[in-house]
Amino acid sequence: MRRFMVETHRREEFVDITGEVARAVAGFSEGAVLVYSPHTTAGITINEGADPDVRRDVLALLAELAPKSGGRAGFQHVEGNSDAHVKTSLVGPSQLVPVSGGGLVLGTWQKIYLCEFDGPRRRTVFVQPLAAAGTEKGVGE
Ligand code: ZN
Repeated sequence: MRRFMVETHRREEFVDITGEVARAVAGFSEGAVLVYSPHTTAGITINEGADPDVRRDVLALLAELAPKSGGRAGFQHVEGNSDAHVKTSLVGPSQLVPVSGGGLVLGTWQKIYLCEFDGPRRRTVFVQPLAAAGTEKGVGE
């Protein structure tokens, strides 16, 4: 299991971690990589990296779905950050990214993001390479 840290700077933001993930799988050639957040108020997603308005729009919609006040849901969690927990469940804690020829298989516009919903904080991202059957030394022996 490999890992890296991410410093976030706002309560809510999407931090591009594509480069860190690529570096974390250096030397791994074929299979997939699990990118996993061990946090309950930060998730992982893949989305457009070209236009920052896409990230802004996703955050705006999530804020409407899960307002900090709780809206009609009437949040009861005493920590007061239920909106962050709900948003984390909506985006999910992980993404599985194919790896081929030693590189991440991503579309032209795709980037991997840590989704911060209760920052700023120091976050951990785990990166677990999963070898394709028979492609790594020792596999299948
Ligand atoms: Zn909480």
